[in-house]
Amino acid sequence: MSTILLVEDDPQIRRFVRLALQGENCTVREAGSVAEGLAATRDHRPDLLILDLGLPDGDGLDLIANLRPWADAPILVLSARSLETDKVTALDRGADDYLAKPFGVAELLARVRALLRRRTGRELADPQIGFGDVVVDLARRTVVRAGEGVHLTPIEYRLLTLFLSQPDRVLTQRQILREVWGPGHSDSSHYLRVYVGRLRHKLEIDPTQPRHLVTETGVGYRFVF
Ligand code: CA
Repeated sequence: MSTILLVEDDPQIRRFVRLALQGENCTVREAGSVAEGLAATRDHRPDLLILDLGLPDGDGLDLIANLRPWADAPILVLSARSLETDKVTALDRGADDYLAKPFGVAELLARVRALLRRRTGRELADPQIGFGDVVVDLARRTVVRAGEGVHLTPIEYRLLTLFLSQPDRVLTQRQILREVWGPGHSDSSHYLRVYVGRLRHKLEIDPTQPRHLVTETGVGYRFVF
């Protein structure tokens, strides 16, 4: 059974989210401020945090910054701030996913399940990972599609394995550029577009309607199995 910490000061949203999660067989702990959220993370070691950004004693972003050095639980941000820059800031600060208010219960639970699944280990443990008609062998560094070998450049391969290591998670353009190209390239978003386009061409059944390398408009990309 997973423990989820809900940090939210609005009692109605708290109740709604709590009921939804309890229906999923989760233990729900609650906090109503940044300070309570930090204490509850320390005391209960939750498997997942659901975090509101506008809290009475501060900003949820500060909570993320405070606990990231010692807590690796995934964080789903809930916020009424729907500007793309706010999403990007939250993800850059260490949140794992973002849901804008108002949201539906099905969407909330889908995001929670995806984050918990990632938590419980579809990491890179299995050296072969498959999606669509593609199989990636991480030990041999080979990619096979419908039985035929696919040639990827080193950058393309790095980009693909970054996506595979973080499924169902929105990666911002800056995060991807930093991971794949290095810290000096965080503004080179045109590179990223070109390389994602090439990967889609090589790996997607219909590169114009990608099913796995999905664009999150204005934010970045999400890999879906
Ligand atoms: Ca609030």
